[in-house]
Amino acid sequence: MMFCYQCEQTAKGTGCTVRGVCGKDPEVAALQDLLTYALTGLGQVAQEARKQGISDPKVNHFTAEALFSTLTNVDFDPARFVDLIKQTVEMREGLKGRISGASFDHPAANFTPASDQAGMVAQGEEHGLTSADYSDNEDIRSLQHTLLFGLRGVAAYADHAAILGYQDEAIWAFLHEGLAALLDKGQDLNYWVNMVLRCGETNLKTMELLDKANTETYGHPVPTQVPLGHKAGKAILVSGHDLKDLAMLLEQTQGKGIYVYTHGEMLPCHGYPELKKYEHFYGHYGTAWQNQGKEFPAFPGAILMTTNCIQKPKGDTGEKIFTTGQVGWPGVPHIWADENGHKDFTPVIDKALSLPGFTEDEDKGSVTVGFARNAVLGVADKVIEAVKSGAIRHFFLVAGCDGAKPGRNYYTEFVEKAPADTVILTLACGKFRFFDKDLGDIGGIPRLLDIGQCNDAYSAVQIALALADAFKVGVNDLPLSMVLSWYEQKACAILLTLFHLGIKNIRLGPSLPAFITPNVLKVLVDNFNIMPIKTAEEDLKAILGE
Ligand code: SF4
Repeated sequence: MMFCYQCEQTAKGTGCTVRGVCGKDPEVAALQDLLTYALTGLGQVAQEARKQGISDPKVNHFTAEALFSTLTNVDFDPARFVDLIKQTVEMREGLKGRISGASFDHPAANFTPASDQAGMVAQGEEHGLTSADYSDNEDIRSLQHTLLFGLRGVAAYADHAAILGYQDEAIWAFLHEGLAALLDKGQDLNYWVNMVLRCGETNLKTMELLDKANTETYGHPVPTQVPLGHKAGKAILVSGHDLKDLAMLLEQTQGKGIYVYTHGEMLPCHGYPELKKYEHFYGHYGTAWQNQGKEFPAFPGAILMTTNCIQKPKGDTGEKIFTTGQVGWPGVPHIWADENGHKDFTPVIDKALSLPGFTEDEDKGSVTVGFARNAVLGVADKVIEAVKSGAIRHFFLVAGCDGAKPGRNYYTEFVEKAPADTVILTLACGKFRFFDKDLGDIGGIPRLLDIGQCNDAYSAVQIALALADAFKVGVNDLPLSMVLSWYEQKACAILLTLFHLGIKNIRLGPSLPAFITPNVLKVLVDNFNIMPIKTAEEDLKAILGE
C-alpha cells in the first residue's frame, strides 16, 4: 500500500494510501520511494568521496534534480523515475570506483535495481516512509521525514540556481550528508532536531544563492505594473518557477507575433529588467496552480510548465501543454535541455502558432510586482519614517502556497480585515487569494507589497533584518507578524529556515503538517511558539492587541 503525507492536502490529513489527492498513483509513489532509497545510497558514497577530496559536479546537480522530481506535483511519469533510479545507481557505482579503502554496509549503498518497471515498483514498495528503513520511534521518524521533505525543498532551489550556473559546495555537501544520514536508525532525538535546523540553515544559503543567480542574471526586480488582460494575437502561457526557461522562450518568440503570459508563480518575473525588456512579454493570466483545471482549457494558446505544480491536464489541455525541467506527465511532450543547458522551444512555438490565440484586446486591470529587497530597501528611509510617525502600525508577512482547501479563505479575510495603518508583505502563490485587491497606500508606500516567488522568502528575511537593524531590535521584536500558508516541500524548507533564524510566533495554516507528531510539535511550540491559524478576526486581535 502506498503511503505519502508530504504535502498539506494529504488525504484525511493523515496520508494518501490508495492514490494521491495530487493524482500520484501507487506505482509512481513506489518508484519515488525507491528513488529516495537509491539517493540515500548515493549520498553515503558521495559523502565518503567528498572526504577523499572528490566532489563530482554532475553527481551534485543530478542529486538535486532527482530529489526535486519527488516534490509534490512535479513528475507523474513512471518511465522518468525508472531512468532516474538507474542513473542514481550508475553514479553511485561510478563514484565507488574513484574512492579507495571504503566499504559501505548499508544495503541502500549496494542494492541493484530490478531490470524493469514492475520489478522496481515491487522494490519501492519495500522502502516506503512506513518501512523498517526508518526509525520505530514515531518522533524520530517524524524528524527523519521532516529532514527528507526539507532536503527536497532545498534541492528544488539548488537546481534553479545550478541551471543559472550558480553552485555552492556546502549546499551539495549537506544534501549528501542529509541523504546519507536519513536511514541511520542509531541517532537520538537531539541529533535529528539539529539536522532539521541545519537543513533550514542550508536552505537559507540556497535561497541566497538563487537570489544572487536571479538578480545577477536578470537584474534586481523593479516595481512593474502587470496587465491581467490580454492582447489580440497568438499566445503562450508559462507556469512554474524557472526564470531561465522563460528567458529562453522570450528570446525564441521575438518577432513571431506571439505574446507571452505568466501563470501562477511566474508572475514576479515581470519585475526583472532582463525579462521585462521584451515587448511581447505582455501580462499575467489566471491565478494559482490549483485553478489550472479551469484556467488552462480556456487559454487559447500553448502552455509550458517549467516546474511544479502540474495537475492532470483537463479538457483540451493535454493537446497544448508541454513540460520541461523536472516536470513530467505521461504522454505530455517534454522539452529537454542540450548538454549546454539550451532548450529549443520550437514545438511550443509551433503549437501556439497553430492555435487561435486571443481574438481581441481585453483590459482586466493590472497588479504591481517587483517589491523585492532591493526595491523595498531603496525606500527604507520612507518606511522607517512612516513607522516612527505611527503612520504604519504593523507589517504582516502573509505568504506561502495556495491550495484547494476552503480554509485558505482565511488569508483573503486576513488581508481584507487588516487595518488601514498596516502593510501586507506577500510572496509565493498564496497571494492569489488577494493579489488584485487595491489596498491603497500609506504616504506613497503601497499597502500590498509583492516580494516575489516562494524562494524570495530570502528577500523577505533581508527586509526584516534591515528593519530590525534600523530600529536596533531583534526580528522578533519588530512590529512584524508572519502569517504563513504551506502546501509542499519548498515551504517545509522555508519553515526550517525561519526556525534556524530563531523567528518566533509564526502562524501556520491551513493545517499543520501530518508528519509532525504531537511531541515534535511541542518542541516547536516551546522553542518558537509556532501556532495554528484561528480565524482572521481572532488572529488580528491577538497580534494587534485590540
Ligand atoms: S504529494 Fe500530497 S497529495 Fe500527493 S500523494 Fe503525497 S501527500 Fe498525497
